[in-house]
Amino acid sequence: MVVFAAAPHALRTPMDPTILTGRTETHLCAPADAEDLGAPVHRDVVGPFRRLREEAAREGFDLRILSGFRGFDRQLSIWNRKCGGELAVLDSTAVPLDILALSEHELAFAILRWSALPGASRHHWGTDVDVIDAAARPDGYEVEFVPEEVDSGGMFGPLHDWLDTRIAASGSFGFFRPYDRDRGGVAPERWHLSCAPVAAAFMSELTVDVLRDTVRRADLRLRDVVLEHLDEIFERFVVNTGSPHA
Ligand SMILES: [Zn+2]
Repeated sequence: MVVFAAAPHALRTPMDPTILTGRTETHLCAPADAEDLGAPVHRDVVGPFRRLREEAAREGFDLRILSGFRGFDRQLSIWNRKCGGELAVLDSTAVPLDILALSEHELAFAILRWSALPGASRHHWGTDVDVIDAAARPDGYEVEFVPEEVDSGGMFGPLHDWLDTRIAASGSFGFFRPYDRDRGGVAPERWHLSCAPVAAAFMSELTVDVLRDTVRRADLRLRDVVLEHLDEIFERFVVNTGSPHA
């Protein structure tokens, strides 16, 4: 079993809650690196991603990040628009739900299947990325990040089949799939990769108390129902993930 140690900087001092919850960008890479990779990421993720990209290129894939770091305000906007019906809320099979037929509790948990609670997104850390094979994307095609794009028969299926092989062989430079299969929390997201050990350092410091404090102060729709169920949300949707050595 490969054991990933926490990043050295995490051992010295506790991480600033603003870094854990997406309210600062001080941990991110230089803009030129963000442009090269496709999106901003944690500065310690640039090297591993470039190595993975080089290996992918050898197989004919153009590995590109479509979504890397996402700040708290951006996640809050997604969350609030889903609560308000401006963005679709999907069921477990990615079919849009009629949110007017749901209780507030049901709506919050339906959103959590596909969208992280603001403050609890792994994208806040810059360690997690949603990727595509740009070589396989037809001109003008708008990527939706839905299962049919990434399943084995989908346009990005060959990339992900190759990534599975690399991950299984510990040849993915620390990248793994936190949402590899359905654990009753976040829906499987084959497009989403996470860079251990950088992500492990964040995960080890993000507590339900840090999250509660963040949510309490946010202009978040369904805040009361979220706070009421925050312990369950944390267990089911935040810590309930795959690991680098699954
Ligand atoms: Zn993602």
